[in-house]
Amino acid sequence: MIVAGGGLAGVRTAEALRAQGYTGPLTLVGAEPHRPYDRPPLSKGVLRGDVDDTTLDTDWAALGCELLLGHRATGLTDVLETTAGPLAFDGLVIATGAAPIRLPGDGPQHVLRTIDDARALRAELRPGARVAIVGAGWIGAEVATAAAAAGCRVTVVEAADAPLAGAVAAEVGTKTARWYAEAGIELRTGVKVASVERGGLDLAGGGSVEADVVLTGVGVRPETAWLEGSGLTLDDGVVVDERLRTGRPGVYAAGDCAAWWSPTFQRRLRVEHWDTALNAPEVAAAGLLGGERVYDPVPYFWSEQFGHMVQYAGHHPVADTMLWRGDPSAAGGWSACWLSGDRLVAILTVDRPRDLLQGRRIIAGHKRVDRSALADPAIAVKET
Ligand code: FAD
Repeated sequence: MIVAGGGLAGVRTAEALRAQGYTGPLTLVGAEPHRPYDRPPLSKGVLRGDVDDTTLDTDWAALGCELLLGHRATGLTDVLETTAGPLAFDGLVIATGAAPIRLPGDGPQHVLRTIDDARALRAELRPGARVAIVGAGWIGAEVATAAAAAGCRVTVVEAADAPLAGAVAAEVGTKTARWYAEAGIELRTGVKVASVERGGLDLAGGGSVEADVVLTGVGVRPETAWLEGSGLTLDDGVVVDERLRTGRPGVYAAGDCAAWWSPTFQRRLRVEHWDTALNAPEVAAAGLLGGERVYDPVPYFWSEQFGHMVQYAGHHPVADTMLWRGDPSAAGGWSACWLSGDRLVAILTVDRPRDLLQGRRIIAGHKRVDRSALADPAIAVKET
């Protein structure tokens, strides 16, 4: 069996194949030179300087998995083509993740995807440095938090009208805008960046933002270009069914690169978050070993920004209404709840981890909720 990609989904695939009884040869091909490591701390502890090594605690020798690090999968024919030569397989899991989008322009710009990216950015977060962050999404918010804490002068430029607008809708994201002001950060929304130039950003509408350091956090694209011409269906990721199968027998995909069919939400989902990379591989491994498991999670992620724990479960685009639990303009925690009819389909919580746990269980169980009880933060999130 072969795993293409050495991120969390790749590691978890190798572990799951062994845990589920596979005893044959196993090889993981990973483009980065490092042993597989965890990414969430890169924008948190690593940028703060609290942690420098996030290598995953996997005993590769005990696992009996050959690591081909610093090598890329380059194509899929009847073998896996790689920079280390062609590899024959009877089972393949594609776990090549996603890569950050860069902006045009000749100026230096950081992105944040790898441990090398994180170390390079951390070295520039010095007191007084002018840091421009393009994008007020998850990465932008977390980097802004770390840069402000390091004493930098931070400007965040966001094309949409609110932070997190693309991720969780502007009406919810806008409630996080005051966190930027409280951290001493200038947040400029509705401003599009044309290019990164020496000395800062050129704005699409004219004008510029001067900066010593630029971090581009405008999203990622699935790493699937190497599969062009392979016969697999690619459409914003490797298209797979609810068992994570591609159209080709014995070839599965999992993690950030996989767009799977969600029975719960009746649509294809591609979720660029840790929980998916953690859990989907067990389903892919089971399928490769002849099992019949379905991957039908309630997507989940978290973000730590400006001293707040933000958590999300579900898929809000299927909702018809949203209601608040608690006052997002007041101090203290609050949640946003999305409903389709009287069913909870998504929940975002700020410093209310219990709401998240209870909400996620209700979403998974397709349970009905009472709207007025749900809107009352003093009453636990529960089904009717
Ligand atoms: P990746 O981690 O992208 O791993 C894919 C690997 O495959 C990479 O090493 C890549 O180099 C390699 N590769 C690519 N192409 C090839 C090829 N052709 N051949 C061989 N190898 C290849 N999620 C949360 O839920 N909460 C968080 O707080 C959070 N914080 C994050 C912070 C940062 C800075 C980042 C970058 C991500 C964060 N995430 C978070 C998201 C989470 O880390 C990802 O969803 C997860 O890493 C995806 O794992 P993956 O294995 O699918 O892909």
